[in-house]
Amino acid sequence: MVNIKNKKSFPCRNNREHIDGFPVYRSYKCYDVIEVSEGCRIPLHDYVMQKKIGREIKQSEVVHHIDLNKRNNNLDNLFLYNRSKHRKEHENIKRLLEKNLFSKLFEKGVIYFDYKEGIYKMKDIEIKIKEKTNKPCL
Ligand SMILES: [Zn+2]
Repeated sequence: MVNIKNKKSFPCRNNREHIDGFPVYRSYKCYDVIEVSEGCRIPLHDYVMQKKIGREIKQSEVVHHIDLNKRNNNLDNLFLYNRSKHRKEHENIKRLLEKNLFSKLFEKGVIYFDYKEGIYKMKDIEIKIKEKTNKPCL
């Protein structure tokens, strides 16, 4: 069961975490990776999916995080796609987000249509963003 996609990986700050007896690390892309043998690390989401389907993840396949949180590797948060369908679904997410965000902002009058100029405009609003202490891993 050797499938090395993440060759570059850094040891996790807390490397006491183990799954199935294998140490878990954080890769440079914020993914969790699992060291299945000396020097051989695979993404944890691939490992979890491989265990479910009983075979390796093919190069043409991608294990997708349903909630887009790369660190949520629960089986019910993972979905096996072929690469092109995976790319399409990410585009779909963007479309859904843009559409819904636009609708909400338009409904609230934050975005409005200027009939004279025939263009959309946005009101100046003060947006307060709560500062987070931990950088999200998305
Ligand atoms: Zn994805």
